[in-house]
Amino acid sequence: MSRPTESVVDGSKASFEVHPKDLPSIDRLLRQPAVASLVIEHGHTRVASEARALLDGLRTQALAGALQTGAVAPDALADAITLRVEHRLAPRMRAVINLTGTVIHTNLGRSLLADSALQHLLALMTSPNNLEYSLESGGRGDRDSIVEELLCTLTGAQAATVVNNNAAAVLLTIAAMARGKEVIVSRGELVEIGGAFRMPDVMSSAGATLVEVGTTNRTHPQDYERAITERTALLMKVHTSNYAVQGFTTAVDEADLAPIAHARGLPLATDLGSGSLVDLAHWGLPREPLPQEKLAAGCDIVTFSGDKLLGGPQAGLIVGSKEAVGRIRKFPMKRALRMSKLPLAALEATLMLYLRPERLTQDLPTLRLLTRPTDAIRALAHTLLPAVTHAVEPRFAVSVVELMGQIGSGSLPVEKLPSAGLAIAPLQKKGAGRALDELATAMRQLPLPVIGRVADDRLLLDLRCLEDSASFLGQLPALRQTLA
Ligand SMILES: *Cc1c(COP(=O)(O)O)cnc(C)c1O
Repeated sequence: MSRPTESVVDGSKASFEVHPKDLPSIDRLLRQPAVASLVIEHGHTRVASEARALLDGLRTQALAGALQTGAVAPDALADAITLRVEHRLAPRMRAVINLTGTVIHTNLGRSLLADSALQHLLALMTSPNNLEYSLESGGRGDRDSIVEELLCTLTGAQAATVVNNNAAAVLLTIAAMARGKEVIVSRGELVEIGGAFRMPDVMSSAGATLVEVGTTNRTHPQDYERAITERTALLMKVHTSNYAVQGFTTAVDEADLAPIAHARGLPLATDLGSGSLVDLAHWGLPREPLPQEKLAAGCDIVTFSGDKLLGGPQAGLIVGSKEAVGRIRKFPMKRALRMSKLPLAALEATLMLYLRPERLTQDLPTLRLLTRPTDAIRALAHTLLPAVTHAVEPRFAVSVVELMGQIGSGSLPVEKLPSAGLAIAPLQKKGAGRALDELATAMRQLPLPVIGRVADDRLLLDLRCLEDSASFLGQLPALRQTLA
C-alpha cells in the first residue's frame, strides 16, 4: 500500500512511497504506448532487457522505502526506459574536438586519415577485394605486395612488410633476427614509449638477450665492437623519440655502426618510432630522421609507425634489405601480427599521397595541421572570441593568447610548435580551481566533447587542430546552458 510521506517532490503535490508489489509487471510496461513504439523501433530483446533492469533497480529502491510514486508514473517509466535504450545504443567510441595543442595525440587516436584514405576504405570494405588474390594469375596473392612496391619507391628499400603497429614491428624484427641470441643496444637508447613498451622488456618477450653498451650519455664505436661475440645476432639503434639527452653526449650513428656490424657479418636494425617520409625542416618544422636516410646509411632494417608523422592508420612498417625482410616475413610470429584489410587499405591510400609531395600539406591532415600558419590560427581565435565569451560569461573571461603546442606521440618532445588560441579564466579568484574543473568537465560532456588543457589557472583552447569551426560553435549553446 502507498503511504503518504513528508517529502514533497516538486513543491506542489504530495508524493507517496511505493511498495514493491505496486510496481508494474514487465508485460504491462511493454504494452504502454510509448514503450510499445520503442519495441517497434528497436525490437523486443533490447527494450525488455532495459525495462527489466529498470524495474530491478526500482524494486531495490522500493524495498529500501526510498521510492516515490512520481518515479513510477507511466510517463516517467517510459522516459526512463527510452533513456536507458538510447544510452545503451550510443557508441562508447566518440568523435571529440582536440584543442589540446598536441597534434598527434595518442590518447585521442593519433593521426587523422586523409579523405582519399576514407574513400578507399569505404569502397573496399563494403565489397570483396583482392587482399590475398592475384588478379594476374588468378591464384593466391600476398597482402604484403599491396604496399611493398610503394614503400620501396618511397624509402629506397629493397623490400618491405607491414604489421599491426610499430611495437609489433620491433618485437617481430628482434624475434626473427635474434631469438635465443644477443642484441647490442646503447644504454642511451633503452627507451620506454608510453604504456608497456620498454626496450629491455621487448627484448625478453622476443626471446633475445639484451647487451647494453656505453653509458646513458656517451656510447662509442669501440663499445659496440668490444661487445660483439659469437652469440651476437643483431646490432640495434633506437631513436630516442620521446626524450633528449643533452650536454656531454655522443652516440654512434648508423653510417658508422653499419660497417662495424657488416664487418662481422651482422645486421643493423633501427627503430625510428615516428619516422617521417618527408623532411619536416622543409616547412620550418623540427627535423625527424627519415627511413630512407637510415637505409642509405647502411641499415638492414628500419621500423616506424603508420599513425605518427606518416599520418596514416595504426601500422608498423618494416623496410630494409631483401634478405632481412625475407627472414622477418617468414618468421611464424608474423602471421599473428599481420595487418587487417582495414588499416591496410588506409595505409595504401596514405602512402600514395607521398607520390605527390607538393600536395602533401593540403592532402595529408597531419601535415596540413602541423604546417598551419600561426597567423591563420590567431585569426580564427579572434573570430571565435565573441561566441565563446557569450557561452561562458559572466563567470569566466576569455582572451586570445599565444600558445606553444607540440607535435605529439613521442615525436620531437623538446621542440614546441608556436600556436594561438583562447584562454578561459574564472573571474572570481575564490574557488577558481573548482570553477575551472567545472568548465573543463562541462566541455568534455558536450555532445561533441571539447578537450582543452588547464595551465596557469586557465583553460587553454589551442586552435591549431580546429578545422571545422562550425561544429565547435554548434556546441556553445549547450555549454552556456550547462554553466548557467
Ligand atoms: C611510438 C614508438 C614505438 C611504438 O610504435 P606504435 O606504432 O605505437 O606501436 C616504438 N618505438 C619508438 C621509438 C616509438 O617512438
